[in-house]
Amino acid sequence: MKVCVIGTGYVGLVTGVCLGEIGHNVICVDNDEKKIKMLKNSIMPIYEPGLENLVKKNTQSGNLSFTTQIGNAILSQDIIFICVGTPPLPDGSADLRFVEEVAKEIGRNLNSYKIIINKSTVPIGSGDWVSMIINDSVATGNGIDNGANHSGNKNAAAIFDVVSNPEFLREGTAIYDTFFPDRIVLGSASQKAIDLMIKLYEKVINRRFEQIDSLPDSKGTKNIPLVKTDLVSAEMIKYAANSFLATKISYINEIANICEKAGADILKVAKGIGLDSRIGARFLNAGIGWGGSCFPKDVSALTKIAAEYGITTQLLNSAINVNNQQRLKMVQKAQETLKIIKGKTIGVLGISFKPNTDDTRDAPAITIMNNLANLGAKVKAYDPIVKESPESLNQKVILCFDTEEIFSGSDLIILATEWEEFIGLDYEKLGALMRDKNFIDGRNFLSKEKMQSLGFKYSGIGI
Ligand code: NAD
Repeated sequence: MKVCVIGTGYVGLVTGVCLGEIGHNVICVDNDEKKIKMLKNSIMPIYEPGLENLVKKNTQSGNLSFTTQIGNAILSQDIIFICVGTPPLPDGSADLRFVEEVAKEIGRNLNSYKIIINKSTVPIGSGDWVSMIINDSVATGNGIDNGANHSGNKNAAAIFDVVSNPEFLREGTAIYDTFFPDRIVLGSASQKAIDLMIKLYEKVINRRFEQIDSLPDSKGTKNIPLVKTDLVSAEMIKYAANSFLATKISYINEIANICEKAGADILKVAKGIGLDSRIGARFLNAGIGWGGSCFPKDVSALTKIAAEYGITTQLLNSAINVNNQQRLKMVQKAQETLKIIKGKTIGVLGISFKPNTDDTRDAPAITIMNNLANLGAKVKAYDPIVKESPESLNQKVILCFDTEEIFSGSDLIILATEWEEFIGLDYEKLGALMRDKNFIDGRNFLSKEKMQSLGFKYSGIGI
């Protein structure tokens, strides 16, 4: 099938390459010329394990190509994915500027029946809103490019359908998640569009794709469950899922804070409750809280959507508050440990919001480092993949390129991201480089007993 993916970021690039891998003809579009130039040269603009090999393979096979020419790409393809960003506005609601631009562009280039898929996370009702923009754009015939002759087509509603197909991939395991999703959600008023979407995903749903390096064999595994529904419900599923997971993390962090005061061990408590099949063990790791490009903005956006209906989201508001406090709790812990922050040297292990990604959007590590720098500490940071200082990071924070630099002369080390690399460090040797061997493990990632036996004054979260 002929697919156009608009927005070649974490979601669009992975979606595009995976659809190419199962045999579709995919054009990935982005208005960031630098990104497209890199991709045309098989240089990845993001860090995602396994991505580079798949991009190379599918570009060589001709299934995947990259362009900045959005009009041409829409004209030539039948299935159009919208995968642009929907970042938060200052009031917490979703900024739909990029989705709007793309919808207008689709309207200007609608030369045949097309399915328009909202894969970007968009507020409830956005499916109808996208339809409206496309219709308006076709009706005005505004700016049709490439010689397509559809100016003033008043029957635009007849030649496209909108589908909501929310994305659940996790950065760091995005390719696995695309081939082995827990479910595929398809929301539309059009049965024809749903049927075509099922055809598009057929090889994933029925486990009929070729073995991919580093992924498990799919043979013999069960078909992927499909949730077929209306547009609004599909949009709600995405927000509700992310809000639930974020709330689960805030819940365990609140329990961890009680454990810490009461002398219980959150690791054992989480294990004890996670083994209850009604609860489940995942997303029960106490730590410095959730961040990234999805949870913070999606939970906030859902509270804003609810407010439009006069609903106060007390539970979600609390989940957000607990999360904000959890980041600041690390700063308090640093104060309790060092007494005076001013003039102290603090090394931070990990910048990205979670391991195996270079994404630093709303990373808890950044909030913590900015606060410590504002309190007068000399802050040094090391991340296995992030090698440039993110814009949101206080520019006084010193980026280090090896872990020895982080430990050298430091009064405290904070582990902020649980990169696998941090398990295997030679803590005995590194500890000897410190001025004072304080260690706060913001992810409960290392063994308390081992770190204490090496002479570290070690503390975690809720242990
Ligand atoms: P991203 O910022 O990595 O990528 C978005 C891309 O869209 C950028 O490359 C940008 O240049 C491009 N773009 C913006 N306007 C454009 C236009 N007019 N024409 C062409 N390209 C344009 O964002 P992302 O992380 O991939 O997220 C995309 C959407 O998917 C968001 O709504 C997000 O909430 C959702 N989502 C993200 C994840 C995730 O883990 N990142 C998971 C599930 C859902």
